[in-house]
Amino acid sequence: MYIFIAGLIFIPFFVLCVTGLMAYNNQPERMLLPGYEEISELSVVEIKEHDWEIIARRLSRMPSNVEVAVLTPQNVSIFSTIEELPQNQTIDDGLLMKFIRSTNDKYYYQIDRPGRPMDENFIVITRMHRFRPKRPSFMVQFYTMVLVIFVVVIVFCSVALWVIARSITNSITALDKATKQISLGKLDEEIVVKGSNEITSLTENLNSMRLTLKENQTRRSRFIMGVSHDLRTPIALIKGYTEALADGTVDQPEMQKKSLQIVLSKIAQLEDMINELIDFVKLDTGEWRQNLQNASLLPFLQEFAERFTSDANLMGRSVQTKIELDENIQVAFDERLFLRCLENLTGNAIRYTQKGGTIGLKAFADGSGFVKICICDNGIGIDQKDLPYIFDIFYRGSNSRREKGSGLGLSVVKTIVESHGWQISASSRLEEGTEFVISIPLN
Ligand code: ADP
Repeated sequence: MYIFIAGLIFIPFFVLCVTGLMAYNNQPERMLLPGYEEISELSVVEIKEHDWEIIARRLSRMPSNVEVAVLTPQNVSIFSTIEELPQNQTIDDGLLMKFIRSTNDKYYYQIDRPGRPMDENFIVITRMHRFRPKRPSFMVQFYTMVLVIFVVVIVFCSVALWVIARSITNSITALDKATKQISLGKLDEEIVVKGSNEITSLTENLNSMRLTLKENQTRRSRFIMGVSHDLRTPIALIKGYTEALADGTVDQPEMQKKSLQIVLSKIAQLEDMINELIDFVKLDTGEWRQNLQNASLLPFLQEFAERFTSDANLMGRSVQTKIELDENIQVAFDERLFLRCLENLTGNAIRYTQKGGTIGLKAFADGSGFVKICICDNGIGIDQKDLPYIFDIFYRGSNSRREKGSGLGLSVVKTIVESHGWQISASSRLEEGTEFVISIPLN
């Protein structure tokens, strides 16, 4: 790109210079004449400024192929471009005539006295080659010019091509090395490709792909570590209680019953966790997305709101619903997953709101191409230091100590929402309440 811009500037500039040079070369006033100051310094005899001006004016009109010599009335040459008549030498009249005669067959001579009769009369000798090379015709000059431009363009294009080819080859080599590194699973090294061609932007994409892969890798290892850690706690409890039951440490029937109940509840917790994990892994593969179909949001949300209101009322929480959506608003979503997402959010709202509290469920089109679904409560709220992490897998806020939970709910919600191409945000204040907003773009 830059090379072509440089070419666009350089080629016309070069052509202008060449044309200018040719024009200058062909003009008659080409002869570089010394000024008065200069000639007075160079000359051994004294010259008046007025005299030199007359001579200089005359000489400047001579064509470029005319040679000149200027002699004072005392025959001292004060300026000469004729090789055989050197400057600052007295040239005897006889000698001068002899010299002219001897070279007359080669040159046309003209002897002139440019000054007025009352001035001191300088002698101006001019000569021109008899066999003057013919000036090239207009067509020859034109073709020469075209040839010069053609050569310049060819040279420029070759250099530009070489530079572009070199830059592309370098970038491709670097890219090839980088992709090999990625394919070998080495994701730590940043891909650096210098220059500014299309491959550089490809490299930037590859770099962000590398970062995403790395992030996924970290997420997966965190996920596996979290799973192992969280599965270990109920298993340890089950093991402890069953051992106590088996070796007779717990022998009273009352205690045995209690222990068995704990074991059962831990098994149920394990079952829930494993089911959630299976769903989570399924979501990650993205296979479910192939069956996505457009459906109206209104009936789906209305049905959910009805069910949720009666559940929440049963648990002593009141619900305010405000679903203001046009029936024609259709969105591509997986009903089962979206339901799971809403159940997780409303389930949390119930869990983290005391009895007598209120939960809000709103849905509306915000006028800028999005449908917003808000789930809010006036419960215990989330500490600001926990807020950035609540969507992380297995993260449990400091407010959740009293509540049972796995820390998986919101990460499942976020995965579902983002897998649909939607977004979710949370805002909260301790002791005031929490609001989750799902933004669904309308195509
Ligand atoms: P958990 O099983 O702990 O509820 P989640 O992933 O569902 O796991 O939630 C993560 C954390 O976010 C919770 O531990 C809790 O601190 C906080 N949280 C989620 N929803 C709410 C809410 N409605 N009110 C207050 N805190 C919430």
